[in-house]
Amino acid sequence: MNDQLNYAPCGFVTLSNTGIITDVNQTLLDLLQYERIELVNRHIETIMTVANKIFFHTYFYPYIQLHGFVNEIYLTLKNKNDLEVPVLLNGARKERDGESYIDCVLIEMRKRIEYERDMLSARNKLEVLNIAKDEALETLKTLHAELGKKQEELIELNRRLESQASTDGLTGARNRRFFQESLAGSLSTFHRLHIPFSLLLLDIDYFKRINDTYGHPVGDEILIKLAKTLQAESREIDIVARYGGEEFAIILPGVDRDNATLIAERCRLTVEQADWGEYGITVSVGAATVTEEDTDETLVVRADQALYASKSRGRNRVTHSDDRSWQEEGGGAD
Ligand code: GH3
Ligand code: MG
Ligand code: MG
Repeated sequence: MNDQLNYAPCGFVTLSNTGIITDVNQTLLDLLQYERIELVNRHIETIMTVANKIFFHTYFYPYIQLHGFVNEIYLTLKNKNDLEVPVLLNGARKERDGESYIDCVLIEMRKRIEYERDMLSARNKLEVLNIAKDEALETLKTLHAELGKKQEELIELNRRLESQASTDGLTGARNRRFFQESLAGSLSTFHRLHIPFSLLLLDIDYFKRINDTYGHPVGDEILIKLAKTLQAESREIDIVARYGGEEFAIILPGVDRDNATLIAERCRLTVEQADWGEYGITVSVGAATVTEEDTDETLVVRADQALYASKSRGRNRVTHSDDRSWQEEGGGAD
């Protein structure tokens, strides 16, 4: 064996047909920590693990006899100290001087196996991390859904609170606060767009008598029913509010003076004709239509004066603040 092969950067061994080592290079001897004399003429299985001996019998020999070569066989050899040495083996069957030999090249695989181990461990860690990531994602999704639900609940709660804050507790109509805000809003819209609106103030006639005769709870029922009646009589955009004890206010967007009187008259008539059981219920109405000079206070004052006029003119009637005739009549409420 020449020096080039003897010290080649890979192990080299020649086997007889029966697996006896006939030659081995120095590189393989160094790898297995044997002296040449210790391996030559020994069987190749001397330097094999038990599992590899079986593999050699069942695969290596039959294959190389059939095909004349084997490539890329992973083997674990044993060195002199019984420590495992993983190698990659290529073998080829050759005829020399009428004899059949198997030449084998062996490359140590320790690094590669270490790399593989590292890669496998990295892959395992990655899998664990992926599972953790998936779990975290699921938790996040659940939290997200819970958050969405809580937000919806909060919005609903706010809506209810807002509605409660703007609703009169007894009648379910809008309350005085909401009325004042709506009036201010209507006025600012009017000043910007010059679309008229009107205000009605309605007060139950002789309501004290109802309370005195039938009791406060009956009075309450009447207030509730009146609120419903006025609401049913109004459009969606109208604001029906309880202005005070037995007094209601209606803001009528887009309604001018003439229509305000018509609508007020319709409300008055509906109340008069409604089924109040054994009680006769009527309302007096004061109407006012916004002008350029109006503030929310002046508009309410004018509607209130018109209501006062309806009372003084005999109740169960409508007066518009622009209607001069009642002012000339004079007189006061009973
Ligand atoms: P007028 O025709 O002049 O309006 O006579 P009136 O009796 O309706 O007027 P007055 O202002 O003297 O009486 C209003 C009554 O409304 C007095 C009060 O007991 C009653 N009232 C106010 N708020 C409520 C309420 O929430 N429930 C009940 N049952 N009665 C109420
Ligand atoms: Mg009153
Ligand atoms: Mg009254």
